[in-house]
Amino acid sequence: MSVLSIGNELLRGSTVNTNLSLIGKKLASFGFEPKIQTAVPDNADDISEALNFMMRNCGLIISTGGLGPTSDDITKKTFADFFGLTLERDIKTAERVRGFWKKRGKTRIPETVFNQADLIKGAEVIDNEVGTAPGFIIRNKKRKTILMVLPGPPAEMLPMLDEKISSLIKEMDFEKQRCVEILSSGISESLVEEMTVRAIGGEKILPAYCASAEGVRIYLKSKSLSKINAARSILEKKLGQNLISRGAKTVEEEIIDTLRKRKQTLSVAESCTGGMIGGKITDIPGASDVFNGGIIAYSNNIKTQMLGVRGETLKKHGAVSEKCAREMICGLKKVFSTSAAVSITGIAGPGGSSPSKPVGLVFIGTEYNGKIEIRKYIFSGNREMIRRRAVSSALNQLKKILTR
Ligand code: ATP
Repeated sequence: MSVLSIGNELLRGSTVNTNLSLIGKKLASFGFEPKIQTAVPDNADDISEALNFMMRNCGLIISTGGLGPTSDDITKKTFADFFGLTLERDIKTAERVRGFWKKRGKTRIPETVFNQADLIKGAEVIDNEVGTAPGFIIRNKKRKTILMVLPGPPAEMLPMLDEKISSLIKEMDFEKQRCVEILSSGISESLVEEMTVRAIGGEKILPAYCASAEGVRIYLKSKSLSKINAARSILEKKLGQNLISRGAKTVEEEIIDTLRKRKQTLSVAESCTGGMIGGKITDIPGASDVFNGGIIAYSNNIKTQMLGVRGETLKKHGAVSEKCAREMICGLKKVFSTSAAVSITGIAGPGGSSPSKPVGLVFIGTEYNGKIEIRKYIFSGNREMIRRRAVSSALNQLKKILTR
């Protein structure tokens, strides 16, 4: 399998190739990963050359981009020429394009948009429910390849990929390379590797690791799913509380799922992360089932007025202290009365440190079932990394207290 990303903007850097990541994740959910990925400009020779190379090496090629109406969108014509096929205007599609424009209140419809109604004769058409450019599936029997042609905008590309990919994978009858993903947190990459290697034993499983502020992702790849499953259950036991999730589930998804099942609620009081924890939680669709809200208590005034942090605490211990984090969480519980609560206060830097309070010092409080836990962390990195690590640690700490 391979991914051919088409568009000058990708090479110029003005658009980040998020389609690759979406396609990669989708294929991974079926136990596959692309062998090749290439980004090429909107240029017929470059597109054809890349396609030729991919067809020599892969059975399924997924291309994105360049299906629009403007003169630089040449993907369709290039592929049609490549396979010796022709483009033909389709009346029904043209009416769909016209309807799409009219619905948006446009009276003057540029003639060029109807280019999108030119379909590749001999290719299967994939309807675009979100936009106007249809996608295509071109089967080449001679070279035993399938080319899936999708539009560039991720919101259009993804539903079309979702609709067709599983049947294409079946049709290609690939030899499955199974892969599972496990997310750990709170332990170093080298320790994760040690545990993984031990769990694998002498089996033919290829491990891979990817560390980020959110934790270490472990990938176990093999042709045998039973071998992977055996290694995975050993590893999961070893990871214990440091196991965040199996599959692509994130910590915040786990937290929301757990609280939802228990019909319970959550609130947050954030200082140094300025709403990032609330942001992560509300990134998840359906967060409103459990998340009541939060207070961004960035200034000492707000910590006192909204959360009832005592002036004496701030004076004696400072805003970045175990005591302040504790009082923040107690105040938060009074305001929101949620089943679980998180407080966070720290120094993200680069300024604001003192000899006893370095940049990266963060206190995180979690409360659940009347039990409060305040933990002190010292994170390394720049402001962004410190804040991201703080968010991820807060979520992990919360997840642990919920599952204890
Ligand atoms: P349209 O019909 O909207 O013109 P298209 O198939 O022609 O779609 P492009 O013109 O190549 O697609 O790109 C349209 C938009 O999609 C671009 O503005 C770009 O930001 C986004 N896009 C294109 N390729 C990618 C990609 N690989 N990852 C993320 N976004 C992309």
